[in-house]
Amino acid sequence: METIRRTKISDLLQREDFGATISVKGWVRTRRGNKNVNFINLNDGSTINNIQIVVDLASFSEDHLKVITTGSCIHVIGTLVESQGQGQKGEIQAKEIEIYGTADPATYPLQKKGHSLEFLREIAHLRPRTNTFGAIFRMRHHMSFAIHKYFNDKGFYYLHTPIITASDAEGAGAMFQATTLNLNNIPRTEEGKINYTEDFFGRQTNLTVSGQLEGELGAMALGGVYTFGPTFRAENSNTPRHLAEFWMIEPEVAFYDIHDNMDLAEDFLKYLIRYALDNCKDDIQFLNDMFDKELVERLNFVVANDFVRLTYTEGVKILEESGAKFEFPVYWGADLQSEHERYLVENHFKRPVILTDYPKEIKSFYMKQNEDGKTVRGMDVLFPKIGEIIGGSEREADYDKLTKHMESLGMDINTLWWYLDTRRFGTAPHAGFGLGFERLMLFVTGMANIRDVIPFPRTPNNAEF
Ligand code: ATP
Ligand code: MN
Repeated sequence: METIRRTKISDLLQREDFGATISVKGWVRTRRGNKNVNFINLNDGSTINNIQIVVDLASFSEDHLKVITTGSCIHVIGTLVESQGQGQKGEIQAKEIEIYGTADPATYPLQKKGHSLEFLREIAHLRPRTNTFGAIFRMRHHMSFAIHKYFNDKGFYYLHTPIITASDAEGAGAMFQATTLNLNNIPRTEEGKINYTEDFFGRQTNLTVSGQLEGELGAMALGGVYTFGPTFRAENSNTPRHLAEFWMIEPEVAFYDIHDNMDLAEDFLKYLIRYALDNCKDDIQFLNDMFDKELVERLNFVVANDFVRLTYTEGVKILEESGAKFEFPVYWGADLQSEHERYLVENHFKRPVILTDYPKEIKSFYMKQNEDGKTVRGMDVLFPKIGEIIGGSEREADYDKLTKHMESLGMDINTLWWYLDTRRFGTAPHAGFGLGFERLMLFVTGMANIRDVIPFPRTPNNAEF
């Protein structure tokens, strides 16, 4: 083969210098043709679009071509020529074809199009080669990048919070234990309890459910920080919106009250959706056409309209008076279910909603207590099709109020001595929130199941790949 620098298909499809010699590499999507000429559709992951390779059968042996089947990987050197068909400008007239890897049609699972999403989950190692998952995973990248860009442009610092933690105090969800103890021969104390002093860290440790508590330590020094990392919840909830391992973005900002926090959440979400519309056009259009005909319209709508802001109490009143039938009862004090959240967003207001000031019993210990003694300065951002996409709050900055509340919840304040030190030394009003990255991905891709927006989902009884 001639040695020419490889061109990515995304770049190639922009070029108009017909006559140029091109090297292109990728996986065969289809090969079809007649006895004179074959057409190979090639994809290299750089775009959802394929480049067409035109193969003049007079120049190649049948033996050489017959292994070029769906899924095989090839390297083509050829001439960029103007395309006869509509849709794209150029195609490649093949001069040489090198076979990198074959894919036996008898066993390669991605033969024809139109596999179910359920089946594709069983072959998660190969599904990135489909148009659908190529689009979703490219968008995952762009959204990750946009998140860092947004905060960097605003002067926030990216803080790396630990994955292994000794605090299970946040109560955000059931935790996975991290241990090196021999589970077949667990060391016991005299009382028969597990002797964690023999464990790796000399104490019981878990995978983190949230980076918030450490994020607050950062905010109390750096002003504005954000985390973006994996979080783990051993909740046995088999829903289309929960994963056992998911990624969370958690800004935490000194001197913010809940209103600043809501402004940040709304601006951040709109920025990310606008970024997707501007930078992922082909992929979004594909997902719109294939899965969700209202996707582009919905994204544009959310960017263009103010979110509704109201209190939990007002929200519950609307739900109670709605006359709608819910699976779970709704009353003041109830933890709102996805069906309630979606009713407010989709049926009542018809736009995103930020609910604030929840009953303190259903929210975490660290939220700022309101004067009424009943509610806290929590906020949830509720989105169409998703329900809760963000949960956050203004934090309780007062040492006495915070420790009193913790004690009333039966928490051991000594284990969180380091967290409470922020309230002892130079405490300040501050606020923050957590955005579930995969919930955002559900929204921007229009997909219906969270297992389809992360490359290798972790859910109960599923840790293959
Ligand atoms: P939910 O009520 O939907 O279970 P939560 O209130 O337990 O969520 P938070 O502790 O507030 O969640 O976490 C912040 C954000 O992280 C949520 O708003 C959501 O976007 C996301 N999130 C929470 N749990 C999960 C999960 N199991 N899988 C994916 N994302 C999640
Ligand atoms: Mn929440």
